[in-house]
Amino acid sequence: MTTRPPLTDSFDRRIESVRISITDRCNFRCRYCMPAEGLPWLQRSEVLTFEEIERLARILAAMGVSHVRITGGEPLVRRDAPDLIERLVRVPGLDDLALTTNGVALRTLAGPLVDAGLRRINVSLDSLDHTRFAEVTRRDMLDRVLEGLEEAERYPELRPIKVNCVAMRGFTEQEVVAFAELARRKPYVVRFIEFMPLDADRTWSKDDVLTGDEIRAMIEAAHPLVRLPAPASSTAERWAFADGAGEVGFINPVSQPFCSSCDRIRITAEGALRTCLFALEETDLRTPLRSGADDLAIEALIREAVAGKRMKHEIGEPGFVRSAKSMSQIGG
Ligand code: SAM
Ligand code: SF4
Repeated sequence: MTTRPPLTDSFDRRIESVRISITDRCNFRCRYCMPAEGLPWLQRSEVLTFEEIERLARILAAMGVSHVRITGGEPLVRRDAPDLIERLVRVPGLDDLALTTNGVALRTLAGPLVDAGLRRINVSLDSLDHTRFAEVTRRDMLDRVLEGLEEAERYPELRPIKVNCVAMRGFTEQEVVAFAELARRKPYVVRFIEFMPLDADRTWSKDDVLTGDEIRAMIEAAHPLVRLPAPASSTAERWAFADGAGEVGFINPVSQPFCSSCDRIRITAEGALRTCLFALEETDLRTPLRSGADDLAIEALIREAVAGKRMKHEIGEPGFVRSAKSMSQIGG
């Protein structure tokens, strides 16, 4: 329910979507995201409580931010994650609630999440081969993720199930067709995401980016595709198999930036507002939340930050400066 003026930035982009990280912790150590070891965790007291997250969601929803995605770190390592879902589904005006997970905990949590009201889920999966999966995630847990996906499938109300694969040159090519066939065989929309410079190891180079167009050409050589319409603010190109057996998607932030239609902001686990994945500055919302600021004061802070949202990310351009934070610390 929009009861406040809409949230818009200085380029007339209306903000309708927020990604909320509920923890910086993770049980994986994906190479494109975290270091092998040594990333210090936030203290529990530094992380927003479910009450604080719900309050921010209400303030945002009143300004027309109707899409919320819960992420992390790994959101399902936070105890009682379904309780947060239950709180958020009741927020007036919030009409689309989704979760991004590495899938490990879905074997036990898919049911409780659905019972709490979750209807959309994204599961990250970068390889269907045990050795290669362990190479990327630095954890030998492919079977647990596949079991988690099977469990999610048991709930028809949890659709679509999206499987997200980070595409890295020199690694992903050999499984592109296998992933496409997974999308044909299973009720999963498989989406390839271009590798972005958000790895804690800071090894990213533009040469490591396997583009969505390259992957699509590989799939089309085996299985013809037809383009599907997608809303203007969508980050993904959607393609269906020409014979009707399933769908794949391409999220191409590096080769085809979608900044001009970006409708998104992020809140980190410690309650900082980021208006771009690649922002170098953040707005602390936790301090005002904890020091008695009323909703209008918090709204004013959010509006001021959003007014400064940058026009585009500038990856690959000469002036590009990497954020000091990794994807797990921002909330992907
Ligand atoms: N732990 C959960 C997961 O992996 O799904 C949620 C958080 S994770 C940071 C969110 C998404 O960001 C995942 O799909 C992950 O693959 C993606 N990601 C992480 N680092 C990335 C990078 N450097 N480039 C592109 N995508 C990345
Ligand atoms: Fe953890 Fe997700 Fe980052 Fe992998 S991508 S290390 S699962 S937060």
